[in-house]
Amino acid sequence: MNLKTLQEKVNLQGKHTTRYHLYTQQEKEILTMTVKLNEEVGELCNDILSILRVQRKAKLEKFDKRNVYEEFADVILTTLQLASSAKVDIERAVEDKIKKIEKRKSTKGE
Ligand SMILES: [Mg+2]
Repeated sequence: MNLKTLQEKVNLQGKHTTRYHLYTQQEKEILTMTVKLNEEVGELCNDILSILRVQRKAKLEKFDKRNVYEEFADVILTTLQLASSAKVDIERAVEDKIKKIEKRKSTKGE
C-alpha cells in the first residue's frame, strides 16, 4: 500500500474530522500550551543529548551549553502557563505530590 492509498483510507474513516472540536477559548489555549510544552521538552531533550554527546555531529557543533539553562526555564514557564490555562493550582499540586512521595518513602522505610 502506498501513502496516497493509506491517506485515502484514513480520510474515509472520517473520525479525525468529527472527534476533536474545541469550543471554548480555554480549550484552545490548553491545547496550544500543551503542544508548546511538548516542543519545549523536545528542545530540552535535544540539549541533554548534546551534553551527553549522543547527538548527531552537526548538532554537537552548533550546541552551546549555556542554552540548556534557557530550555529548563522554558519547560518550567510553559508548564506554569499551561497550569494557569487549565486552572490548576500549581502550588497545591506540587505540595500534594511531594506529600505523596514522602508518604510512600516513609511506608517503604526509605
Ligand atoms: Mg525553548
